[in-house]
Amino acid sequence: MANIIEVFPGDEVAGEEEYLASDGTFANEGKVYASQIGILELDDDECVARVISPNPPNILKTGDIVYAVVADVRNTMATADVVAKEGTRRGIGGETYATIHVSKISQGYTDDVSKEMRKGDYIRARVTGTHPSLQLTTKDDRLGVIRSLCGTCKTELVRKGKGLYCTKCERSFPRKLADDYGDVKI
Ligand SMILES: [Zn+2]
Repeated sequence: MANIIEVFPGDEVAGEEEYLASDGTFANEGKVYASQIGILELDDDECVARVISPNPPNILKTGDIVYAVVADVRNTMATADVVAKEGTRRGIGGETYATIHVSKISQGYTDDVSKEMRKGDYIRARVTGTHPSLQLTTKDDRLGVIRSLCGTCKTELVRKGKGLYCTKCERSFPRKLADDYGDVKI
């Protein structure tokens, strides 16, 4: 590829007799047009025209480490909204609603999700699947709750043993904590 040509959606980039439409392009009446902003790539080996976006949307994939806020806790699972992916400041494209099954929460046996996380907790988790919906696990020392506020007084809970403690209410709460709870900057 000799020249770097930036194109905009709707720009004519090639004729179909030479190149077929591929990623980031579409064909109409014998001509190929860009469907997104990006760099035009005319591939002479495959005979396709592509437009490569400089900032592809951050679609989550299996194995990604993410930060999420617990949205709801039910008997056998928690739901969470993914807010960031570790290692990037770019936003998340695509699905951010995720589920965590009770069996994927803790290395130990647990039958009650509410003993491991609560609504509003910030968690660090790993993506274990993306179809048909986003699935997460916190089954690792590094994974689990990283920040939590007391449900009664909204004071930030501090680590105490394997769980959390509210210094104001003087109550303890069980949690599946990440090993660096209280020491994380998001
Ligand atoms: Zn409290």
